[in-house]
Amino acid sequence: MTDAPAARLAAFLEELEEVRQAREVSVIVVTKFHPAELVRELAAAGHRDFGENRHPEARDKAEALAELGLTWHFLGQLQRKKARQVARYADVLHSIDSLELVDALEGGEPGDERGVRDALVQINLTDDPGRGGVEPERLEALAERVAASPALRLRGVMAVAPLDEEPGSAFARLATHAELVRRVDASATWISAGMSADWREAVRHGATHLRIGTAITGNRAVGG
Ligand SMILES: *Cc1c(COP(=O)(O)O)cnc(C)c1O
Repeated sequence: MTDAPAARLAAFLEELEEVRQAREVSVIVVTKFHPAELVRELAAAGHRDFGENRHPEARDKAEALAELGLTWHFLGQLQRKKARQVARYADVLHSIDSLELVDALEGGEPGDERGVRDALVQINLTDDPGRGGVEPERLEALAERVAASPALRLRGVMAVAPLDEEPGSAFARLATHAELVRRVDASATWISAGMSADWREAVRHGATHLRIGTAITGNRAVGG
């Protein structure tokens, strides 16, 4: 991968055009561990949606690039005590996974205006309760809580495919969970699924929002 990120973005969108067929699919470019300059480069190429998974790295980039009016997606685990800070700069919260987190997002001092944030309920598709996301048995209650929250607008679901399962079968399960959430709120139609390695399967199973890092940005310097 020696091309510039903007060229990789263009190539990615071209392939997506073939895979998505008639459906609308949005691409969130995940820029964690990359400098704000890379975001600026992709924004100059016309891209608007960017994802980050860690506070305060996410905050620093969103603040540095505030004048560009980009849409920031927060993808990482949201700590309750940091949640309100994240909601100040993140337009879309992909990782709502507990009732307590919704409580935390609703709290705040008078004058602490953030507006209503788009929210996705993250679902744990693994058997390991320690992984991010709500257990499927608790999904309906959480979706109802988000739908009723004055701080959030329920948009749909988010998940990461497990490492030890074929992604297609995991995304098929996600599609049935998404259907349940649409019964709670018919307008909650987003399915955030699919990363660099598994996005084609995600699109085939109804993903509306892909979260693409390395395939567009190149390798990250450290971890993540
Ligand atoms: C890093 C990350 C991605 C992007 O992963 P790539 O494999 O680099 O495409 C997507 N979703 C989440 C939640 C992430 O943390």
